[in-house]
Amino acid sequence: MPAIANYMFVIDWSACIKCGACVAVCPLEAGFTSAFDTISIEKPCGVTCMACERVCPVSAISNRPATPEERLKTVAQLV
Ligand code: SF4
Ligand code: SF4
Repeated sequence: MPAIANYMFVIDWSACIKCGACVAVCPLEAGFTSAFDTISIEKPCGVTCMACERVCPVSAISNRPATPEERLKTVAQLV
């Protein structure tokens, strides 16, 4: 089985304009959001379509690989 990439997303809060576009485009259901109505920054994403990063009008979203501990909390994997 190939390794599944799990990413944590990081949001530059000084740039985010709270437009909600990242949540609107994300295929994950409600629950993968932050307290500021962006995609979650606390749980790894296992879908990694990267639509959130592409749609953000101010390029406030970046990512890093999840740590082994964080991967245990991964939300959703499309197979
Ligand atoms: S990579 Fe795709 S599935 Fe994961 S948070 Fe971004 S838009 Fe949602
Ligand atoms: S798309 Fe970008 S600017 Fe809009 S809410 Fe998400 S992180 Fe913030």
